[in-house]
Amino acid sequence: MPIYEYRCQSCNRKNSVLSRSFGAPTDLACSFCGGVELRRIYSPVAYHRSESDRISELDTSRPQGEDYYKDSRNVGLWAKKRLKEMGQDLGPQFDEIVENARSGKLTGVDD
Ligand SMILES: [Zn+2]
Repeated sequence: MPIYEYRCQSCNRKNSVLSRSFGAPTDLACSFCGGVELRRIYSPVAYHRSESDRISELDTSRPQGEDYYKDSRNVGLWAKKRLKEMGQDLGPQFDEIVENARSGKLTGVDD
């Protein structure tokens, strides 16, 4: 289920709303002040960052939470960065493996 985020125009706080249907929720009220003027927050930032930006922001000293990998674009980044930090040459084959992992395909399995 998608989560929609809204900024309350009265108190300026952020409301996260879990949608139970396919569309964005309507008739919302701020859960802090009860205000009804909520503006949808879009987060375009994540979509415009390149993979190298994502890799440089990634903290490999700790494991990423489950939510991190709900974004399939993040799949493989941790491994990529760790391997680079260890001085491994990844080569194009690794990109292919990551691409397959992102699209849900298994590698090395014939069907
Ligand atoms: Zn409010």
